[in-house]
Amino acid sequence: MKNTLLGLNTEELRSLVQQNGEPAYRGSQLADWVYRRRAHTFEDMVNLPDKMRAWLMENYEIGCSKTLIVQHSRDGTTKLLLEMGDGAKVETVGLPYKDRFSCCISTQVGCPIGCVFCATGLSGYTRNLTAGEIIEQVLAVEEVSNNQQSKNNDRARRIDHVTFMGMGEPLLNYTETLRAIQLMNSELGISARHLTVSTVGFVPGIRKLTEEKLQITLAISLHAPDDELRRQLIPGLTKWTISEIMDACREYFRQTGRRITFEYCLLGGVNDGTTQAHELVRLLHGLNCHVNLIPYNPVSRLSYRAPLREHILAFREILDTGGLQVTQRVKRGSDIDAACGQLRRQSL
Ligand code: SAH
Ligand code: SF4
Repeated sequence: MKNTLLGLNTEELRSLVQQNGEPAYRGSQLADWVYRRRAHTFEDMVNLPDKMRAWLMENYEIGCSKTLIVQHSRDGTTKLLLEMGDGAKVETVGLPYKDRFSCCISTQVGCPIGCVFCATGLSGYTRNLTAGEIIEQVLAVEEVSNNQQSKNNDRARRIDHVTFMGMGEPLLNYTETLRAIQLMNSELGISARHLTVSTVGFVPGIRKLTEEKLQITLAISLHAPDDELRRQLIPGLTKWTISEIMDACREYFRQTGRRITFEYCLLGGVNDGTTQAHELVRLLHGLNCHVNLIPYNPVSRLSYRAPLREHILAFREILDTGGLQVTQRVKRGSDIDAACGQLRRQSL
């Protein structure tokens, strides 16, 4: 397998070309082609000498992924199943909005945590993705989405928001996730404030991330206000209690000044009762945070169901009255396999 260039930053590309006897500025040009101009082939790189292009072609590829499946939703959402160089498959979603173009990316092939309601967790865990494979998802979904939009005569757009909410637990793949964040900042020009890392609550990872003092948003998948219910839903992460997670969140806020997001996936009849809503208000009282309610997206062969509309409203009302800032995730891509991990599961 050839080495891929996506994943190397400008500095590294500069030293790479220098090792081959080219002046360093050729590395900056290469970075420009790969990241800024979104080149697909070395032939596209017309300002590079033929000899250098031949060397690149022989030894490198720009990225390693192949797009296996594309799904377009009527609302503009695009979902891809990508195959990496070794055959590993991951999902990526592009979400064009009026004011931003967002994408949701995977950090692992599968997930070792195995939350009982999650399609990704169901199909097991294979490996971590590299930073290059993570950033490649952004470029792949941007391109496919733009191709589709151009059929509707819409202008090509660049992804400007990224959520690490696809397959996998980003903080269990800490080094490559952090590197991908840095590449998104420095090479794709996406500001840290437009990046959101979602974690199931892996405390050592949250503490480590805190020390980086980045301006990214930290989202915690809470799903339950008490440890007992949380353990049932997230059996793969019983080591850390909610209280330890809260302590880590308070420290994250102290160090970065960034308001924490708590994701709460509402599972009908499981965690969507008024008792849980009141407990959640007590738990989050006084913390500078925001709650994102995610109505469950049913996964085939799992018995969990979506919450009833009136239960969502009642839950939300209690949080509002309790003084919490609440949003509800708008369901996108409901006519395609919206729940992350479903597309890959079907292809296994
Ligand atoms: N592993 C990380 C990030 C990926 S999951 C985490 O758990 O936070 C991203 C979010 O999608 C999590 O909040 C998760 O609970 C939620 N999710 C997973 N499956 C879902 C489904 N079928 N319906 C709605 N939300 C789901
Ligand atoms: Fe993994 Fe997140 Fe799915 Fe849980 S919800 S299994 S942590 S991807």
